[in-house]
Amino acid sequence: MHEMGLALEILKATRKAAEDRAVGPLEEVQVMVGELSSVEPDLLVYAWEAATKGSPEEGSTLKVLWQPARQNCAACGVVEERAAGTWLRLCPRCDLPLQVVGGDDLTVRTCRYHPPGGQRQESNTAPTSSAAAGSPGSLAARRKHV
Ligand SMILES: [Zn+2]
Repeated sequence: MHEMGLALEILKATRKAAEDRAVGPLEEVQVMVGELSSVEPDLLVYAWEAATKGSPEEGSTLKVLWQPARQNCAACGVVEERAAGTWLRLCPRCDLPLQVVGGDDLTVRTCRYHPPGGQRQESNTAPTSSAAAGSPGSLAARRKHV
C-alpha cells in the first residue's frame, strides 16, 4: 500500500522534528494532501494508525489538510466549474487552455507534542497502558472522532 510508505515517512519526519527539542510524545501531526497527489486521506489515516502501533507515537492523530487544485484561465481567472475528478483542460467559458495550480502537495505542516513529563494528566494515553492497545473498538471510536 502506497499510503503505508508515506505514513512511515511522516513518522520519521515527526521524530526528526522532535530532535533537540524538549517535547513529550507526539499528539498530532498535520499533513497537507493535495487533490492531485493520489493519496487517499482515509487510507493514510489508517496507515498512520498501523505505522504507529506499538511505538511511542501510538494514539497520536494524523490530520489531513485537504488541498484542492485550482484551474486558472488566462482570461477568466480562477475557474471553479468542473465535475469532480475530471480535468478538462479547456476553459468552459472561453475555451482557452487552463493552467492547473496547486493540489500536488504532500507535506508535513505541523507537529504537536505533549509537554515533556506532562503525561500524568493524560493517563489514558500513557505508553505503559496496555489495556486499550490493540482493541478494535477503541480504534473505531478514534477513527470516527477524526
Ligand atoms: Zn476562460
